[in-house]
Amino acid sequence: MLSERVGKIKPSPTFAMDTKAKAMKAEGIDIVNFGVGEPDFDTPDHIKEAAIKAIRDGFTKYTAVGGIDPLKDAIIEKLKKDNGLDYTREQIIVSCGAKHSLYNIAQACYGPGDEVLIPSPYWVSYPDQVLLNDAVPVFVKTEEKDGFALRPEALEAKITKKTKALILNSPSNPTGGIYDRKTLQAVAEIAVKHNILVVADEIYEKLVYDGHEHVSIGTLGKEIKELSIAVNGFSKSYAMTGWRMGYAAGPKDIVKAMTNIQSQSTASPASMVQKAAIAALTGPQDSVGMMRDEFDRRRKFLVQGLNSIDGISCFTPAGAFYAFPNVSALYGKKAGSRPINNSRDFALYLLEEANIALVHGEVFGDDNYIRISYATSMETIDKAIKRLREAVARLA
Ligand code: PMP
Ligand code: GLU
Repeated sequence: MLSERVGKIKPSPTFAMDTKAKAMKAEGIDIVNFGVGEPDFDTPDHIKEAAIKAIRDGFTKYTAVGGIDPLKDAIIEKLKKDNGLDYTREQIIVSCGAKHSLYNIAQACYGPGDEVLIPSPYWVSYPDQVLLNDAVPVFVKTEEKDGFALRPEALEAKITKKTKALILNSPSNPTGGIYDRKTLQAVAEIAVKHNILVVADEIYEKLVYDGHEHVSIGTLGKEIKELSIAVNGFSKSYAMTGWRMGYAAGPKDIVKAMTNIQSQSTASPASMVQKAAIAALTGPQDSVGMMRDEFDRRRKFLVQGLNSIDGISCFTPAGAFYAFPNVSALYGKKAGSRPINNSRDFALYLLEEANIALVHGEVFGDDNYIRISYATSMETIDKAIKRLREAVARLA
């Protein structure tokens, strides 16, 4: 009964690991869960209050499919102020999460045989969303020594007549890498030269450290603006993962197609969540900075801890809330009779014998690494580093 298309995809591995860790916790196992990338902070009160007020006021019906105008206006204002991007209402669509916006883009723009360039390591949902639309993911490898940013020549080498789009994620999940302006300019020139759509996933834009600057590719010229679509959401900046709220801004024809798809699939995002989103964008922003500063503290502590373990080497992430250490020096070793030959072996060993849940690099496109989400408390990170040190010491 199933379609051929659905046979090409797997469940999101980040959620799969989270589910496994939560099941172990429910059995009473003291698990440290670094699996899913989800802020441990609560949604700020003024945002919650706006949703409660909307419900009390009876704002509980369908809304315009692509979002209510006051929310679109708040997004337009935010994009202008924070990103230097100018858009009109017809260029904005509000969806049930950034993931939903990305999926709408995939449905609207990718078709059979189209090639979609994905810098690797990549976030787990990009390839599967491409596959679900009968298009072909084409990976472009990035290197740790380049801060996991694309080399323009490596990008250009993968372009063919079938290339339709490039999915760019800065700051990156899983590497924490950020594109500087110069590299982004080079990428923009290539995209314009070959007429490639750039899908800019900017969901971690507020989480940048060490003086790095987030640059939206659409600000780098008129031509690239017309060829790019910015995707963003509330999950990470406002600790709103469960509310399911995201948006995209880009060319009118693409946004219109996405809105048509949404009108035939989910219709509008939840009415009261749209009111909460307005409060998030227009209300006080101090919680955003507070969360960023706390993530920064954890980042430093975690990276230092990881680098103090023999056999583990960790790039200092410049953004987002993931550490992506290289653990390949441990491959070929054994824990008793248990061989550790790849990232999956290592992650399973840590889960089953050290009670640490994290995601193996293979699912992000690089088997030499593992991903650790540091959107958890300092105590959890401290506990995990101790367990990790002991688990690595047991390998021979
Ligand atoms: N893009 C990236 C890179 C992510 O890590 C996430 C987190 N799930 C998303 C998009 C989607 O976020 P959401 O759907 O919760 O807005
Ligand atoms: N972005 C988070 C992660 O990568 C959430 C899970 C998901 O959407 O896959 O862990």
